[in-house]
Amino acid sequence: MAHGITDDTAIAKVPAPQEPAPDDDRPCAIQAVNLRKVYKAAGGQPAKEALKSINLSIPRGSFFGLLGPNGAGKSTFINILAGLVIKTSGSASVWGFDTDVNPRQARASIGVVPQELNIDPFFTPAEAMELQAGLYGVPKSARRTMEILRVLGLDDKADAYARTLSGGMRRRLLVAKAMVHAPPVLVLDEPTAGVDIELRRQLWEYVQELHAKGTTIVLTTHYLEEAQALCDQIAIINHGDVVVCEPTSQLLSRIDEKRILIRPSSALASLPPQLEKYKAELRDDGQIAVLYNPSEAPMAALLADISSAGIEIADLSTEEAALEDVFLQLTSGK
Ligand code: ADP
Ligand code: MG
Repeated sequence: MAHGITDDTAIAKVPAPQEPAPDDDRPCAIQAVNLRKVYKAAGGQPAKEALKSINLSIPRGSFFGLLGPNGAGKSTFINILAGLVIKTSGSASVWGFDTDVNPRQARASIGVVPQELNIDPFFTPAEAMELQAGLYGVPKSARRTMEILRVLGLDDKADAYARTLSGGMRRRLLVAKAMVHAPPVLVLDEPTAGVDIELRRQLWEYVQELHAKGTTIVLTTHYLEEAQALCDQIAIINHGDVVVCEPTSQLLSRIDEKRILIRPSSALASLPPQLEKYKAELRDDGQIAVLYNPSEAPMAALLADISSAGIEIADLSTEEAALEDVFLQLTSGK
């Protein structure tokens, strides 16, 4: 087991989760500055630069999505924060605790639900929870084993051997273990891979409840719809770099954007002023390309503006963008 927190004074210093104030100048839930990780060459495998230079700030109280294709570096990033992987350079902090300066407090501030279903088959859920509490130095009087198991629907399995648990139950036990030390930041690394729809729904209900009570949630997933539905902010990482970090609504508005191509019946020398309020360009081939947001600007208004500019339309076509497209556009070919 890589966790090594045994002294409970570290735990006691971690502040309870609180509602973030709107103009909050307190430290972020998670902050990374020029974070870099190179895995050394080993066993015939060449060295691998998993994180190039990650700069990321995750606000307290957010429900944050960390998206990216397989191998992008998501788990590496998370495992550095959790003290499970040693960074090569740069700095990281959790709940204001620098992982170099205050490693125990940083680790005590974060709970990670790992990507792999690594559960010891010989412990019961209750035993696994007590063991984890011991590792994190949670005093006996502060332990909430049964309470957490109950919320995750595992109380009737508390004393069953873990090997008799279904995949979904094991996943929930991992969530329970990550919550043992009541961390203000909970990270779920691809928690629904291989989990059936009903269990996913239950898991999200519970995680949303935690979030509503003030826990900052970081979710990595490659289910885009899941991130879209749950996360208030999304960062996409690819090949060890952050390619975009935006509020979900903003990311979606990119996706919502369509491009209309208009071929005027006679060539234009320049764009007419009526189109200045749009993101429009006059292309070399004579077409006017207009980026517009269907939910904000109806097509009819655009056509009216074109008509009032005296442009006669010879042909009109659209280029569509979908969530998948934007994701691919941001993560492929680089
Ligand atoms: P993700 O979670 O986004 O799929 P990872 O952080 O697991 O990505 O991996 C990022 C890159 O680092 C991948 O190329 C992966 O093969 C490599 N990698 C991950 N863990 C190790 C390790 N322990 N040793 C060497 N390379 C690793
Ligand atoms: Mg991963």
